[in-house]
Amino acid sequence: MDRTTLGAGVRRTGMQTTAAVRGLSCTACGESAALSERRCPDCGAVLVVDFDADAVESAAAAHPFPAEATVSIDEGATPLVAVPELADELGVERVAIKDEGRNPTGSLADRKFALAVAAAIQEGADRVGTPSTGNGAQSAAAYAARAGIDSKGVVPSRCPFLNKAMVNVHGGDMYVVEGRYEDAVEAFGEGDEAFTSVAPGHPFRTAGATALALELLADRESTPDAVVHPTGHGETLVGLQRGFSLAVDAGLADAVPRIYAAQPDACAPIAAAAADGAAEPVPVDHPDTIVGPLEVPDPAAGRAAIDAIDASGGDGVAVEDKRILQAAVDGCEIGPEVGATGGTAVAGVRALADDGAFDAEDEVVLVNPVAGSKEADLLRSHLMSLGM
Ligand SMILES: [Zn+2]
Repeated sequence: MDRTTLGAGVRRTGMQTTAAVRGLSCTACGESAALSERRCPDCGAVLVVDFDADAVESAAAAHPFPAEATVSIDEGATPLVAVPELADELGVERVAIKDEGRNPTGSLADRKFALAVAAAIQEGADRVGTPSTGNGAQSAAAYAARAGIDSKGVVPSRCPFLNKAMVNVHGGDMYVVEGRYEDAVEAFGEGDEAFTSVAPGHPFRTAGATALALELLADRESTPDAVVHPTGHGETLVGLQRGFSLAVDAGLADAVPRIYAAQPDACAPIAAAAADGAAEPVPVDHPDTIVGPLEVPDPAAGRAAIDAIDASGGDGVAVEDKRILQAAVDGCEIGPEVGATGGTAVAGVRALADDGAFDAEDEVVLVNPVAGSKEADLLRSHLMSLGM
């Protein structure tokens, strides 16, 4: 296949954005930054895309790039599946799962790489790269291939075979680093500088989650009261809060839902900091959770994520791996398939309900970031450990 064909329509003549995009700004010091910046030039913190609320009438209108500069495999427009049995169990009005596993490569990462790869191409990149726990590398490879450029993913040895295989299938270069995610981060870029980084914390990755927030509101008649998201790098939490705030400013929502970060307790830097009222996460020295996609001990957007949770009136919740796996199996029986990653939201919302986080009138949305069948082996071994 001629891999340049699909990318040929994407402009490479300087950054093209829609009228709704005002620019980038820093999540820590608030300074404006040029669209080409990837970290704040003043303080080094994570940047976000600023949208003009007056120019945003719908989720689609908040897309950062014009159609001719877009890289897409039809990501987004995922279903919001009602799970009435879970609502009954928790004692709330309504529970629905936003099933991001239905994206092209089976994860929420597709929303992020659609934008980050498009931004990279507009900067003239012919190769993008990211460290990843697995799904991000797969998605980056898929979107780079779609755009007709090269990619590299740097993953830890514990990354699932499925992700490694699909990076190769999409024609990406894959580097497997012995150890865990932080070892992959350390190795990222060593001895190979010939790529444009689309690593976690990239402002257009975060903008992918902003689009998710707007789509969530467009899916419903009323604004949800709470959103529970299983987080790793924290950038989705930041993008969600930005999106909900933008919707309020644009008159598309009544209020910003409370945002809850759910993490496995063996690697819960963001959830623990939010629950403790700390200003930023403390990196975890010895992370050890079975939920590989969420084993991110030093999250790139950690501090910004805490600010986003606090601004929304939300909180953090950390749950044991055993409860996560059981919640995933339970979730599969009553709703859309969830794996260990999505099960973290189910286990998290149960723990939050036990702590009295919700009222009987609350409408709660859980985000399932990864297709359940991608993590079938974890669920199967959990059943086997129970003698099933
Ligand atoms: Zn700054």
